[in-house]
Amino acid sequence: MSKALLELRDISVCFEGFYALDNFNLSLKPGELRAVIGPNGAGKTTFLDVISGKIKPTSGDVIFKDKSILGKREHRIARLGIGRKFQSPRVFESLTVHQNLALAVSKPKKPLTLLLDNQQEEQLDQIKHLIKVVNLQSQANILAGSLSHGQKQWLEIAMLVGQDPDLLLVDEPVAGLTDRETDLTADLLKSLSGDHTILVIEHDMEFIRRLESPITVLHQGSVLCEGSMQEVKANKKVIEVYLGQSEDKE
Ligand code: ADP
Ligand code: MG
Repeated sequence: MSKALLELRDISVCFEGFYALDNFNLSLKPGELRAVIGPNGAGKTTFLDVISGKIKPTSGDVIFKDKSILGKREHRIARLGIGRKFQSPRVFESLTVHQNLALAVSKPKKPLTLLLDNQQEEQLDQIKHLIKVVNLQSQANILAGSLSHGQKQWLEIAMLVGQDPDLLLVDEPVAGLTDRETDLTADLLKSLSGDHTILVIEHDMEFIRRLESPITVLHQGSVLCEGSMQEVKANKKVIEVYLGQSEDKE
C-alpha cells in the first residue's frame, strides 16, 4: 500500500507523434493542496484529462486509492471520488444558488420539484453549510445567472464539494476574476484542503503564492521541478523557461 491518494506513474500521451506528456510523474498525499504551474502548452490540461479519464495515456499508470484507474470511463472515475472543476463555470443559470446546491447534494438524482418537496433536513443543513463555506449567504435565493464570474466559480466549487470527492481537480479557477475574488478563491481552496485533496492549475502567481502550497512546475510534458514558491523561484531551469516571457511570471 502506498501512502499517496493519487499517483501518476510515467505517464506519456502522444498526439499523432507529439508528446503532450512525456514520462510525467506526480504523487499526492491525502489532504494535500498542490499547485501545478507551467507555460501554455506544457500539458497541464492533458494530465487532468488523464486523471479524469477523458484521455487514455499512451503509456504509464494512474493509481487512485491504491488501485489503477487506467482505462476506466469518466463517470466511473467521478464516482470513485474524483471531482473536476473546468475552467469556465458550469452552473445552472436559471436556478437559484440554493437550487443548484440542492441538485449537487441530492443522492439519488431526482427531478428538482420532487427534490424540493422532500428535502431532507440533513440535505438542507448541508446546503446551508456549503453556502457559508463559499460565502454566498446573501445570494442564496438569487439566480445563478446573475452572480459575478467569481461567485459562479465558487458556486461550482461548492457544488463539487457537495458531492464529497476525495480529490478535487481545479483548472485555472481565477482567470477573469478581480484581485479580491482571486484572493478569496485561494483562501477557499486552502480552507477545503485537509478534508479534501486538491490539485489546482493556475498561471496567476499571486494566487499561487497565496495558496502557500507545494508547487509542481510542468514543462514540455514533464516535471521541471517541485518545491515551495521560494525553491521554485530560485530554480535555474524554471528561470530559464520563464525568462523572456512577456507576462510577469516571476
Ligand atoms: P496546457 O493546459 O498546459 O496549456 P495542454 O495540456 O492543453 O496544455 O496541451 C499540451 C499540448 O498538447 C499542446 O501543445 C496542445 O496543442 C497539445 N494537444 C492537446 N490536446 C490535443 C489533441 N487532442 N490533439 C493534438 N494535440 C493536442
Ligand atoms: Mg490548459
